Amino acid sequence: MSLKDLEMTIEYISDCKKLVTARTDLSTDVETLVTMDCEIRTKVSGERWFYIFPGVTGYESFELTKESVEDVCKIGWVACKGTKGSWDRLVIPAEELRQVLRQLNLIDQFRQFQVPCGLCGKPTPSIGTKRCDPCWELETRIKMDPILARKILEGLG
Ligand SMILES: [Zn+2]
Repeated sequence: MSLKDLEMTIEYISDCKKLVTARTDLSTDVETLVTMDCEIRTKVSGERWFYIFPGVTGYESFELTKESVEDVCKIGWVACKGTKGSWDRLVIPAEELRQVLRQLNLIDQFRQFQVPCGLCGKPTPSIGTKRCDPCWELETRIKMDPILARKILEGLG
């Protein structure tokens, strides 16, 4: 995907905020604290992604879901695992993420924000997939083997 195509998929970009990251050169194990920029990009599809840059490889990102936000606010985010001799390891501590996601009003939004499940209509916080947990699980398993799934359904009917 070209950069232009990528930009076409972005609907809205939040304010840019600063956060402190821990960057480690794996050949020396020296950790440096580096201030980077971060922002939230909302895609045309409704998915929201958290971006930091310059990052290690240009930028690093992850999709913002209720689960991922809870995770990074608890244990931090390993934005780049790193490779000895080429890529630095890049870790963003949980307290930095908690602070910046609160500044961007994201933590409060995820507390309330829900969409109807695309299959059963029950409210779900999974705004990216638009599937509640049981529907997501069932759909994923059916997609793994639809022919077998059909056989099972016919057996039930
Ligand atoms: Zn559902």
